[in-house]
Order: sequence, then C-alpha cells, then structure tokens
Amino acid sequence: MPSLSETQDQVREYDKKHGWGEDQASHIVLHMTEELGEIARRILRRDGYKKEFFDRKELAEELTDILYLNLKLANTFHIELEEEWNLMWERYRKKTNRS
Ligand SMILES: [Mg+2]
Repeated sequence: MPSLSETQDQVREYDKKHGWGEDQASHIVLHMTEELGEIARRILRRDGYKKEFFDRKELAEELTDILYLNLKLANTFHIELEEEWNLMWERYRKKTNRS
C-alpha cells in the first residue's frame, strides 16, 4: 500500500499527464462539494431518509473521489499532507493524553 505522500505524488503526476494540474482551487473546492453531496446522498439512503437502495460500494467510491480531490487541492498549494497529518496526529495525541 502506498504512503499518503506516494499517493499525493500519484495524483500530482496523473493530473499533470492529463492537463488537470493547473485546475483552479475554487473549481476543485466546488467539485469537492459535489462529491460531499454524493456522500450525503448515500448516507441519507442508508438512514432511510431517501428511499433508494444503499450501496456500501458506492459510498466507498464517493469517499475515494473526495480523497482524490483533497490530495489535488493540497498539491495546488504545495502542501504535503503526510507531514501535516503527522503534525495533526501529534496535536491530537497530546490533547487526549492531557487528562
Ligand atoms: Mg463521486
């Protein structure tokens, strides 16, 4: 399994190859809201608010779509998410070990 850093590199190379490496941040964020809506729809189905069939595989795909866009947005700003993840995890660890 690739590391988060390797996955972010994979997204960067894929986007560059397909001419999507210069997409505007605002467009990526809008696309993220679209994917979040798709996730919400699956959850609403699961909880019975929507009377459509809940498909766990579809939810998995939507979660992955938004992960891709999160990595893509981080690439736009040259933010290394693996490094940020480790910093965040350390903050959380300190917070939960306080009491
Ligand atoms: Mg989707």
